[in-house]
Order: sequence, then C-alpha cells, then structure tokens
Amino acid sequence: MLTALFGGTFDPIHYGHIYPAIALAKEVGLTKISLLPNHIPPHKPQPEATTTQRLAMLNLAISDMPLFSIDTREILPQNLTRPSYTIDTLQQWRHQHGKLSGLAFIMGQDSLLNLPTWKDWKILLNYCHLLICRRPGYTENTTDNELQAWITQHQTTNIHDLHNFPAGYIYFAHTPLENISATEIRQNIHNQQSCKNLLPPKVWHYICEQGLYNAKKN
Ligand code: ATP
Repeated sequence: MLTALFGGTFDPIHYGHIYPAIALAKEVGLTKISLLPNHIPPHKPQPEATTTQRLAMLNLAISDMPLFSIDTREILPQNLTRPSYTIDTLQQWRHQHGKLSGLAFIMGQDSLLNLPTWKDWKILLNYCHLLICRRPGYTENTTDNELQAWITQHQTTNIHDLHNFPAGYIYFAHTPLENISATEIRQNIHNQQSCKNLLPPKVWHYICEQGLYNAKKN
C-alpha cells in the first residue's frame, strides 16, 4: 500500500487542497491521504489561527470524507518549540515503517518550485515519492537549473513506479486547477467578504463562530 502524506499549514483548509487531493487519489490509486498540519512553517509567515483551531478545521473538513485522516506528529506538544521540517518527518516515518513501505508526499506546484529553500531538499526522494498537484499560475518548469535537472532526473509518468518502488520518483498529476489560496481566504474574510464557496460548510461555520480572521461572529 502506498501511504500518502499531504503537508500544509491549512490556515484554513480549503477546496484548493481537497478537490485536487481527491482527484489525485483517483488518478494514482491512493486509498488514504493523511493531512499533516505543520506547527511553525519554516518558509512562510506564521499561521493566524492557533494550532488547535487549524486542527479543529481539519477535523470538521474531513468528518464525512473517509479518504482523509490527520497525522498530528508535527503538532504534538514535544514538537511545539521548533519548526517542522519535512525531511525530519519523513525520516521519522521511515524509521517507524521500514525501508520497503511505499510513501508519497503530496504538494502543489508552488511548493515544488520553492523546494530549494527546504532543509535537505535533495534527499527528500530517498524517503518518499513526490506527487505534484497543478496550481493556477505555476508551471511544471523552473528557471532554477539545479532544481530543473533534479526534477528531470527523477520524473516519471508511470503510475506503476509509484507503487512498485518505496520512494524516489516525482509524478506530475493531472489534477483540476482550483484558483483558491488560504491567503486570499484570510484577506477576504478580513474585508468582511464571504468565502462560503471556497471551503467546506462546517469549516466556514467554525470560522464565523470563532470570529477567526476577523470574521463577523454569528
Ligand atoms: P497560503 O495562501 O497561506 O500560503 P495555501 O493556500 O498555499 O496557503 P497551504 O496550507 O500552505 O495552503 O498548502 C499546503 C499544500 O497545498 C502546499 O503544497 C500547496 O502547494 C498546496 N495547495 C494549496 N492550495 C492549492 C491549490 N489551490 N491547488 C493546488 N495545490 C494547493
């Protein structure tokens, strides 16, 4: 079985995460996707919602979607004082599951292009495959020659590679383009605009109830 982790800040989780992930699961044959919320994202501004609120929104979002589960290892109390680096999480996962189990890490194209800023990015593929979801505004190619060479070296278009090998491949999925970002959602809510259609109803309700992102409380 190919385990899939989908890391993110999820501040908040939205349909730009959910719809591509569902399509990816169908395309690649994933039976489970573990959402992996990070505590202190190393590459971007800190979340506005608390860790508890982000986790609550994830739980609400997936409550009627059995494809998804949540992996809380990066937000466990002992990890709360330091940034969560994906490479550390992957190494820990390998340590627990052994060398032969299949592991895939899901990300959007923007994250792939940003990879050279990640800790030990070049050895990520020693531990997992990378499954890349399309994202509006981002192409498959990059002007970073080192990254481009690395992608070309490891890219596969054969889904069987993902199931027959435990790690080592990059796969560009044909997932739907969803023009949604958490930044835009937070900004819209700050400006008192509804984002009802961009995320699951239970998550929208929670945001309003908590007055998150300066939302008008119900
Ligand atoms: P922010 O706007 O705060 O930067 P975000 O919307 O990019 O947040 P994250 O939680 O940071 O959401 O993203 C987690 C992962 O989901 C990343 O790999 C990101 O590339 C991917 N992702 C987020 N939104 C989309 C989208 N609309 N389409 C495809 N992938 C996405």
